[in-house]
Amino acid sequence: MNRKSLMFAVVALVAAGWASTVTAATANGPICETSAWVNSTTYYNCNGGSHTALDIGNGTCNEWNHRGMLVGNYYYSYAGGCAAACNGSTCNGGAGNYYTVTGGSGWNFRQLHFINNVSSGSKTCDRCALGLVGGTGSATGPHSHSDNRNGTTRHSAWYTNVGTTCGSSGYCNNRVGVPTL
Ligand SMILES: [Zn+2]
Repeated sequence: MNRKSLMFAVVALVAAGWASTVTAATANGPICETSAWVNSTTYYNCNGGSHTALDIGNGTCNEWNHRGMLVGNYYYSYAGGCAAACNGSTCNGGAGNYYTVTGGSGWNFRQLHFINNVSSGSKTCDRCALGLVGGTGSATGPHSHSDNRNGTTRHSAWYTNVGTTCGSSGYCNNRVGVPTL
């Protein structure tokens, strides 16, 4: 191996190392109202079909800020364009208005279904307002859906590892999960 190819190998290894770096991020509840609670986890409505994500609601629609859940500064990429809805639509393939935070090695974290307001748009922030609690996309009532995926596969460890179950608090000061990013 000559000097030039050795340097290339070192650069490639460093690049591969960076690309595979993943970290555990703390996620707090998305709604700053003490009545916010977890109403779906691995199964819809706690005992229905497979869901593998957290749905957190406060029982009301189009009110209170739907907040970024990750503690610390993260880039929230916005996908909007859905009209206000409290009980579902087909907008954005059922995701409604949503945000994605992209991590390493294919991991991402999403928050779905909110109603956009003046706070909505791509941005880097720490638990800032993303929109209002809503039901845009495939939702049977106003809530915040959050999932931690690798590619498009949802994983459950991020909330099961910290003991979040149906009925847990979804208040914005309480930790609900530790997603991989
Ligand atoms: Zn959901």
